[in-house]
Amino acid sequence: MERRSFLKKATVGASVGAIAAPALAQALPTINWRLASSFPKSLDTIFGAAETFSKRLSQSTGGKFNVRVFAGGEIVPALQVMDAVQAGTVEMGHTASYYYFGKDPTFAFDCAVPFGLNSRQQTAWFDQGGGKALLREFFKEYGIVNFMGGNTGTQMGGWFRKEVKSVQDLNGLKMRIGGFAGRVMQKLGLVPQQIAGGDIYPALEKGTIDAAEWVGPYDDEKLGFYKVAPYYYTPGWWEAGPQLSFYVSLKEWEKLPKEYQSALEAATYEAHVVMQSEYDAKNPAALARLLKNGVK
Ligand code: CA
Repeated sequence: MERRSFLKKATVGASVGAIAAPALAQALPTINWRLASSFPKSLDTIFGAAETFSKRLSQSTGGKFNVRVFAGGEIVPALQVMDAVQAGTVEMGHTASYYYFGKDPTFAFDCAVPFGLNSRQQTAWFDQGGGKALLREFFKEYGIVNFMGGNTGTQMGGWFRKEVKSVQDLNGLKMRIGGFAGRVMQKLGLVPQQIAGGDIYPALEKGTIDAAEWVGPYDDEKLGFYKVAPYYYTPGWWEAGPQLSFYVSLKEWEKLPKEYQSALEAATYEAHVVMQSEYDAKNPAALARLLKNGVK
């Protein structure tokens, strides 16, 4: 008798739970956002982070909160992602903050500073060392909430059409190298150029530039630089652990239900970790292939 009564109560309890869950889900709105990436689609690592993020966000909100990812140049010029989020053209961006070094050198701290932190140190500073709070205060002036969005790990020093034997050989060379690092190289006589990832190969092939740095073996191989500039130098002392970032329009962020804010933040953490692990897993094999292809 007692058992039957318990079972009856348990059944009632379960059905109440079953009714309550969909009612809660229905209360949350359907939201469709656009994200402008600074990177070309061919790079599954650095471009892929935005897709990792968007897939998880959609899955964890029952398909209700969707962020469509656009490659660099598709709806926004690759190096103007920050401006587009600030202006409200798109709700989100995925980019490297040091692209905006020219507006304010502070942007470099959200990405990389020459001879600065490695990947683990950058994540530790941002997540545990007060970096997030400092940078959020800075980004607020631009109407943006920033999140970690991956890290490439220590980068390579770049591709040169001719061998560099001394510092004098850098004199007058045009090199694709942006932001803070470009400023340092300029003092050594180099002429720095800021060029989006997808546009580097044609410039190097035509000889408009003499050298270019991008990321590391895996991405660089995909973009084909070794075919036109066989001298590959390491390390990229200006990028010991460059962090990529997700930008969210502050205005749009404040409108989100708390559940969606939480899901969005969790998805950025996943994208951050997956990008780092992908680079660490894929770079060694790519470097071996490059050497086999005659890279010096
Ligand atoms: Ca780089």
